[in-house]
Amino acid sequence: MTDTPAAAPQEPEAPQDLRPSFRSDVTVELVKHSAADSDVLWAARVSTAGEQSLDELRKDPERSKGLINYLMRDRHGSPFEHNSMTFFISAPIFVFREFMRHRVGWSYNEESGRYRELQPVFYVPDASRKLVQEGRPGKYVFAPGTEEQHKLVSRSMEDAYVRAYEAYQEMLAAGVAREVARSVLPVGLYSSMYATCNARSLMHFLGLRTQHELAKVPSFPQREIEMVGERMEAEWAGLMPLTYAAFNKNGRVAP
Ligand SMILES: Cc1cc2nc3c(=O)[nH]c(=O)nc-3n(C[C@H](O)[C@H](O)[C@H](O)COP(=O)(O)OP(=O)(O)OC[C@H]3O[C@@H](n4cnc5c(N)ncnc54)[C@H](O)[C@@H]3O)c2cc1C
Repeated sequence: MTDTPAAAPQEPEAPQDLRPSFRSDVTVELVKHSAADSDVLWAARVSTAGEQSLDELRKDPERSKGLINYLMRDRHGSPFEHNSMTFFISAPIFVFREFMRHRVGWSYNEESGRYRELQPVFYVPDASRKLVQEGRPGKYVFAPGTEEQHKLVSRSMEDAYVRAYEAYQEMLAAGVAREVARSVLPVGLYSSMYATCNARSLMHFLGLRTQHELAKVPSFPQREIEMVGERMEAEWAGLMPLTYAAFNKNGRVAP
């Protein structure tokens, strides 16, 4: 007899493809949501109309639009918090590092480099990514790179990624823990996370992480986090069109 329970039969693990692959895009999927303009109206009107507010707001769409615009303009922000959007995002680690600076109104869960082996998917910018930074800090402009610069970037990144992932695998094969071996992996490695926010926290994020001709306060985000922001913005615009229009009309400043 032994105290050790019989080991469950193990599924044979699928063979993994350890060859690095390279991407220049990001994945953003809206996986779950409860978000509509009526959530804003309901929250705003409950203070005056009480339980009748849902019926009230269906009566007069123009008034509803005007109320949302007034809330946005005068920065009455809390009615924009009674909704929820959960995104699945896959992007390079350097994007997540910037993303997770957004503390308020956001919840995050990211894949673990301790509990699972990290997959060899790495970021290499495509030809549309401007490569040359000009101007002063806080007011940079970016110019397109030459063909030679693009070739250099692709070659240098791919070589470095391949070497780094080989070192990671060598350590894992020698029995080193994943949480130790991962130190050699660069910030161009893709990670994935769930990020949940509400319209108010998303607007604050978009005001800082996208560039837009209607923005009253210009921002200068890194292009790759802006790519994520643009995709989230497109999803949100479809869910809350009146709120989205009011955000743009009022200079893309979160209320
Ligand atoms: C273009 C750009 C460049 C950047 N460069 C750098 C950089 O070089 N180095 C760097 O470290 N970061 C940098 N950041 C990150 C930036 O400083 C913020 O951490 C990030 O944009 C999140 O903004 P936030 O704090 O307003 O958001 P959230 O953390 O979501 O906070 C939302 C709001 O809540 C309030 N709030 C939150 N926490 C506090 C608090 N502790 N005290 C008082 N009020 C609070 C504030 O009003 C804040 O605007 C940069 C951001 C951008 C957009």
